[in-house]
Amino acid sequence: MKTLYDPTREEIAAILEGEKKYRLDQLWTGLYTHFKRPGDISNLPAALRAKLEAELPESLIEIRRETSADGDTVKFLWHLLEGQHPIETVLMYYEDRATVCVSTQAGCAMACGFCATGQAGFNRHLSVGEIVEQVVRSAREAALRDRRIDNIVFMGMGEPLANEESVWGAVERIHDDIGISARHITISTVGIIPGIKALTKRPLPVNLAVSLHAARNDLRNELVPINKRYPIEDLINTCRTYLFEKRRRVTFEWALISGVNDTDRDAEELADLCQELSPAAHVNLIPLNPTPGWPTVGSSPARVDAFQRLLREFGVNATVRQNRGTEIAAACGQLAAGQPVAVSLKSSRLPD
Ligand code: SAH
Repeated sequence: MKTLYDPTREEIAAILEGEKKYRLDQLWTGLYTHFKRPGDISNLPAALRAKLEAELPESLIEIRRETSADGDTVKFLWHLLEGQHPIETVLMYYEDRATVCVSTQAGCAMACGFCATGQAGFNRHLSVGEIVEQVVRSAREAALRDRRIDNIVFMGMGEPLANEESVWGAVERIHDDIGISARHITISTVGIIPGIKALTKRPLPVNLAVSLHAARNDLRNELVPINKRYPIEDLINTCRTYLFEKRRRVTFEWALISGVNDTDRDAEELADLCQELSPAAHVNLIPLNPTPGWPTVGSSPARVDAFQRLLREFGVNATVRQNRGTEIAAACGQLAAGQPVAVSLKSSRLPD
């Protein structure tokens, strides 16, 4: 079933067949510039508004909206229209910008053990409209605070490059119609090589983030099981081509897990990989967030600092990701859409 943000402009034109020509612009601007439902686009005639509301329903039913104590992180829980598949979206306000983290699948089939979405398993792919509407509904919430959306990260539930076609459809809509530039759009992947190759052929130079977490195959096979199919050497070569074609820098994401991938040896191996790319890859360190199905804790703040310092000594640019929304289970790896997530306050605060 087509929902409000699924049809292309041409498909909307077909739905408006028989109406005055300028209705298309009025509707499209209402949807993509003012983020309105057809029923609220007041320059459309009432009968047309009613017809559009009936033919093109919104795809996301809001179940819950949680806000962190400081008010800067908002997590939405939605049900898709068929009612069974919960997904989540996270809106983050920073001083100078606002970012939306969107889901691309209900669940995820990649089975990374430390990620709550991976622990829960896969339901289905999201459509273009279901992805775009997460941005629209977040923009509506941001407008209540007089804020606009500046960045989109494809880092919510699911593996974007296992659903590349819909993800790309959403990227085009977000870029062309909502007006967010490619450098403010980031796609994060576990390292699906055919997906990165498909992205390389797409016209817009969006940022690529790769969830690396280990720089040697035996460890990565354990942490990110898809590595058995797409091993590190092949992944790095594919990233190199992407960088060359797009003139963009790749970011490696690294969830620091105490005693697992936070040793000096890991830092050294990671630095070596970064330097295989030119310019060297940037590293985003994320102290592991707690999830119900994974016993190991995140690295201590002291170890995170030491790991970052080591990388810098090896000449690699590394930043530590500001942790957002842990208390509402909205942080990296915690999106499970309704599954209870046990937050252990001890994790990532253990002394060295
Ligand atoms: N499937 C894609 C998109 C999700 S992005 C991908 O994996 O890249 C979510 C990011 O959070 C990924 O980098 C993921 O590895 C990371 N992550 C998963 N579980 C985490 C956890 N428990 N703590 C911190 N980061 C985690």
